[in-house]
Amino acid sequence: MTYHIITYGCQMNENDSRRIAHLLQRSGFKKASEKKCDFLIMNACSVRGRVVDRIRGKINQLSKEKTLILTGCVLEKDRNELKKSFDYILDIENLTRWHKKVAELEKITDESDYFQVKAEREKPTAYIPIMTGCDNFCSYCAVPYVRGRERSRPEKEIIEEVSGLIKRGFKEIWLLGQNVNSYNKNGKSAFPDLLESVNNIRGDFWIRFTSSHPKDFSDKLIEKMKSCEKVTNYLNLPLQSGDDEILKRMNRPYDTEKYKKTIKKIKKEIPGITLSTDIIVGFPGETKKAFLNTKKMLEEIKFDMAYIARYSPRPHTKAAQLKDSVTDKEKKKRAKELTEVLKKTALKNNRGKIGKRISFLAYKSEKGTTTGKTEGYKTIKVEGDLKEGKFYRAEVIKASSFGLKGKFIKNG
Ligand code: SAM
Ligand code: SF4
Repeated sequence: MTYHIITYGCQMNENDSRRIAHLLQRSGFKKASEKKCDFLIMNACSVRGRVVDRIRGKINQLSKEKTLILTGCVLEKDRNELKKSFDYILDIENLTRWHKKVAELEKITDESDYFQVKAEREKPTAYIPIMTGCDNFCSYCAVPYVRGRERSRPEKEIIEEVSGLIKRGFKEIWLLGQNVNSYNKNGKSAFPDLLESVNNIRGDFWIRFTSSHPKDFSDKLIEKMKSCEKVTNYLNLPLQSGDDEILKRMNRPYDTEKYKKTIKKIKKEIPGITLSTDIIVGFPGETKKAFLNTKKMLEEIKFDMAYIARYSPRPHTKAAQLKDSVTDKEKKKRAKELTEVLKKTALKNNRGKIGKRISFLAYKSEKGTTTGKTEGYKTIKVEGDLKEGKFYRAEVIKASSFGLKGKFIKNG
């Protein structure tokens, strides 16, 4: 029997797909192409918008003989609409219970603990979920409804898993969660302590993490990011809106002043840090003036990257009761305007790197060019077929908004 997985979602979904792949392979399934597989699993996410149309479009392209399975962060309403098109709809949080053999194969001691399922991984990058779910209930967001409340994974388990991966040669460790910096918020060892413990694992590797909530971004965390040498100088800190009134209505418990203060501290303590953010345009009631406040924030902070989403009402959420007042055309226009600002700030930041020597991790080496990521998570291209999965140093010789060109200097 063969399988194929299609993922529509974020890094958490990508990682879940790798766990599903691991389980299937342990159960004797073989990976196959979308066309040839017997079982096709769609791991989808309803968080940013409707997935229904995308999934329907895909199903129409497929042959009828396949067994179709739907899983992921799919809202009840979307599930109901898709029910007839799938043979099975399975809960991702119940991954351990998908098949009675799973617990036996994986030596699972607690069936309610989906963290116990390992993931199929490809070197040099490994994604490690450290928590799942969310308690924040931002008024637009479906995550608390599809992923449930926050649950943190025991530190010991995380350290054991990362140590094993480092021994196997992994070089880039992503600590993942909907809100990583509220990891173990009521326990003894919180996120800054976890970062330090991961940093203390022996070996030559980088640590990255996402997502962080501005309200939980403490001075202690900035301190640890600075003092832990394996923690990279990259940070995603979702702003969502640069207008205080909209932030309140989004149920984001910070204002633009607080956000700017946090960014100022981070830039001071970690000079040259790459900053990315998440923005929603067209939230209900976002006036032209409110939008311009967001635009101004982007111009001021000079992000390297921004994930700009057009607001889409999600069932069950508080904002879904509000009138979706901004037209789709206007949302597109606003998103485009912000992208233009971003392109300019990112280009300026990248040009500032010309002539500097930076470290990068080689991902792919092909036809005389090596592509990798810098410590600040920027894409870099270097001439020459360097070894994949190794650290190198390069001098930056050219820059565009979302990429760098470098000249190889020396091995890591
Ligand atoms: N936990 C993170 C935070 O606090 O910002 C973000 C996680 S959320 C799964 C990923 C992104 O999806 C959000 O940052 C937001 O920009 C976007 N998003 C969530 N709900 C949305 C909605 N209803 N419409 C448009 N974008 C949405
Ligand atoms: Fe969604 Fe993030 Fe808000 Fe949680 S903190 S509700 S995941 S946007």
